[in-house]
Amino acid sequence: MNASDLPGTPFLAYRDRHLFIEQLRLQDLAVMHGTPLFVYSKASMLHALSAYQRAFAGRKAKVHYAMKANSSLGVLQVFARAGCGFDIVSAGELARVQAAGGKAADVIFSGVGKTREEMRLALQAGIACFNVESETELDVLNAVALSLGKTAPVSIRVNPNVDPKTHPYISTGLKGNKFGIAHERTLQAYKHAASLPGLKVTGIDCHIGSQITTTGPYLDALDKVLDLVEQIESAGIPLHHLDFGGGLGINYNGDTPPTADALWARLLARLDERGFGDRQLMIEPGRSLVGNAGVCLTEVQFLKPGEQKNFCIIDAAMNDLPRPAMYEAFHQIVPLTLTSEAGKVYDVVGPVCESGDWIGRDRTLNVQSGDKLAVLSAGAYCMSMSSNYNTRGRAAEVLVDGDKAHLIRTRETVSDQMRGETVL
Ligand SMILES: *Cc1c(COP(=O)(O)O)cnc(C)c1O
Repeated sequence: MNASDLPGTPFLAYRDRHLFIEQLRLQDLAVMHGTPLFVYSKASMLHALSAYQRAFAGRKAKVHYAMKANSSLGVLQVFARAGCGFDIVSAGELARVQAAGGKAADVIFSGVGKTREEMRLALQAGIACFNVESETELDVLNAVALSLGKTAPVSIRVNPNVDPKTHPYISTGLKGNKFGIAHERTLQAYKHAASLPGLKVTGIDCHIGSQITTTGPYLDALDKVLDLVEQIESAGIPLHHLDFGGGLGINYNGDTPPTADALWARLLARLDERGFGDRQLMIEPGRSLVGNAGVCLTEVQFLKPGEQKNFCIIDAAMNDLPRPAMYEAFHQIVPLTLTSEAGKVYDVVGPVCESGDWIGRDRTLNVQSGDKLAVLSAGAYCMSMSSNYNTRGRAAEVLVDGDKAHLIRTRETVSDQMRGETVL
């Protein structure tokens, strides 16, 4: 194992056999804060963001971080200070943006099931735009806005029926998905939106899926969206902004997604060709901004030899790292300190009472009880999806900035978990 085998970020590397994130040794952080522990690199997040910023230099464009990927306040603050807006999917996320120092005016609100109360809260806060996902939602949002004496800025999320060639649970732009309004119904939906006095049509939106590793699906979706823009504008409904969603993949296991700047060089060229290059653009990346910036540190509890399999039982589990159980996803698992001895093959599993509680299968590791490991590419869709299953507290989180470690979330206690519960 050498530095070039570690996926996705230059800020994670072995030095003299020890794994470092920026200037800090991960073994030291694990000892100081305990495990399981999420550790994020601020430089790595800003590095990922800079690829988008480079692509959009000289353009009218705004990055709205899709915060469901990692909604911890310390992480949001990094992106707010770097000038990002936010893509939210609940009123809870709006409250987080505000608590982290972000502005409601830089927020766009996506999601198929916004409640009336969430619409009210977002309208009162003055968000930038609602990404509306159904015709019924247009009517409900109109009524809520009128009841408040406000006008809701809307863009309609269109479903371009493009296959992003990713896991079925994370593809969102195909005909049988619950997301967006079908391509064929879009013009009609825009005409309806334009006729409603509580709405102001401001843009168009599309998001075709997640962990997309090729440029093709993006180009296909772009062309379909631009065809729709032409239709909608010929019907006399001007669109101020074009929002192309998120979805760019990261390297988990030798995946080779295009870099954000390479992808956008292609997409911007196409936009220019079709005469849309000077439009206000928006994007909503999540995973590609934070995924490779984080690791989850864990301690080996027991080694359990078996007839068919050897198990390496660690103190992190599916409640901390839900992606393998949910999508059979792959995370690299590496030691915090390298040794030269050969390893054994293990299934790396957590202590939760489910056979689905595995973190990695058939991994070669040279480990003993008490050794510490890092589960890589754990910055996105891990902590934000974590749960208290088996009454396990959520892990602590540390944000590293150069040679400084900031504890941005303390480890959850059992009394934290029982808060609000009563017995008869
Ligand atoms: C989840 C989501 C995103 C971000 O997706 P990533 O794959 O993490 O980039 C963007 N927009 C919408 C509407 C989403 O639901």
